[in-house]
Amino acid sequence: MRLTHFSTLSLLAAAIGLSFASTAGAARPPAPDLSNSEFQQCLDRLQSSSKFRGVDSYTFNTYRPSQPDPSVIQSLNYQPEFQKDVWDYLSVLVDKERVEDGIRAKRQWGDTLRQIESRYGVKPEHVLGVWGVESNFGQTLGKKPLFESLATLSCFDRRQSYFQGEFANALKIVQRGDIAPSDMTGSWAGAFGQTQFMPSTFLELAVDFDGDGRRDLVNSVPDALASTANFLDNRGYRTGEPWGYEVKLPDGYWAASNRKDKKSMSHWRNQGLTLANGSPLPYDLSSAGLLLPAGKDGPAFLVGKNFDTFYSYNASENYALAIAHLSDLIAKEDSSKTDFITAWPTDDPGISRQQAKDIQQALLNAGYDIGGVDGIIGDNTRTAIQQYQTSRGIFPADGRAGQRFYSQITQGQTQTPSARPSMPVPTDRMGQLIEHQTTITPSTSSYSAPSQPTTSGNTRYRRIIGSDGVTRLVRVDEGS
Ligand code: CA
Repeated sequence: MRLTHFSTLSLLAAAIGLSFASTAGAARPPAPDLSNSEFQQCLDRLQSSSKFRGVDSYTFNTYRPSQPDPSVIQSLNYQPEFQKDVWDYLSVLVDKERVEDGIRAKRQWGDTLRQIESRYGVKPEHVLGVWGVESNFGQTLGKKPLFESLATLSCFDRRQSYFQGEFANALKIVQRGDIAPSDMTGSWAGAFGQTQFMPSTFLELAVDFDGDGRRDLVNSVPDALASTANFLDNRGYRTGEPWGYEVKLPDGYWAASNRKDKKSMSHWRNQGLTLANGSPLPYDLSSAGLLLPAGKDGPAFLVGKNFDTFYSYNASENYALAIAHLSDLIAKEDSSKTDFITAWPTDDPGISRQQAKDIQQALLNAGYDIGGVDGIIGDNTRTAIQQYQTSRGIFPADGRAGQRFYSQITQGQTQTPSARPSMPVPTDRMGQLIEHQTTITPSTSSYSAPSQPTTSGNTRYRRIIGSDGVTRLVRVDEGS
């Protein structure tokens, strides 16, 4: 459970469809100077305020931070300029490694998942999909001390009232003995445990499923999985329904992406939609809306109510699609192919976490100080990629880690500066966009995209950087 505006992951996910902005290289703003005396006065006021009425003074004083943590204010105000395309977002969250981890988890926790299904009516793969995307099956819980983060957010900058409530709820959780104080660590915004619940969601929906009397979403997998199922059930999950399907639109069909506009399956059959493999649409969804994450030329989906329950976990359609897709692959126990049937409309698809690690290792080998190799393409890696691209004359030098850059850096297929487009750089008719065509194409290098677009019409897009510094996608060819 993360709230869209407070989650790094969600901020990266916020680019819906083809609109996204800007390039790497924008530095994170420095952490602000926060006055500790102001902070302590604020905590004094909070302790006697109505929001903290249910928190006893022993608990408050024991876990009262001695100083604020400026880094969380920095995170609160940091809108990464680089937002991921949907194909980059999905390729990292649903890769071979995560599907294999999910299949193992399904076998290891099979009995527990069956008990959870019989109590909450939620399919095992849907619980696993959330678990895998939220915390990498319990491996990534967040390390920020929760009381420091939430107390700081309660006293400085925006949304203080909201965070004061979450701070009070976090204290109530340790006061009740559900979670050990030393386990109260999480994201900078206060989401914690294997389900990444905010404290308020914990108090509302966490359950004790292993029967030890504590709702321990940090250390107990049964508690974490059952709490996830309870969350989905609470948000309107329909027992027995799939989340939806990848579908194929009839030729020439046009409709807006609007998953909330639910229609019957008969309606969609009459419109000429089929499953992506061409089979007739089944009737096991009571109603479904059309989701086109990258417009009409990319993968298309009909999604039902259960997709909406995934969405409510993090308020992002791409995030919900990652859970949905991961759950399908875990259910099928097939990690051999993580792409959708219809390819994304791009000539430069996204990379897996292993490929991200390979890129980071290659950057380290080339002398770029990116810290370490963690498979997460963050600010440091993007900046290094951009510097690498600039130094090698690779256009666009946008800091993006896609399949093309992966080939370039791991196989040393970089272009020499002499291959740069001659100046002046052409502008389009609007006079706003400067197209930096990438100088490496599949025909002149051994680069090969793992999945070429296969949609009818076969529209492709290329990233261009406008004179305003904003990256956009433009159509580059059709009908091939
Ligand atoms: Ca328990």
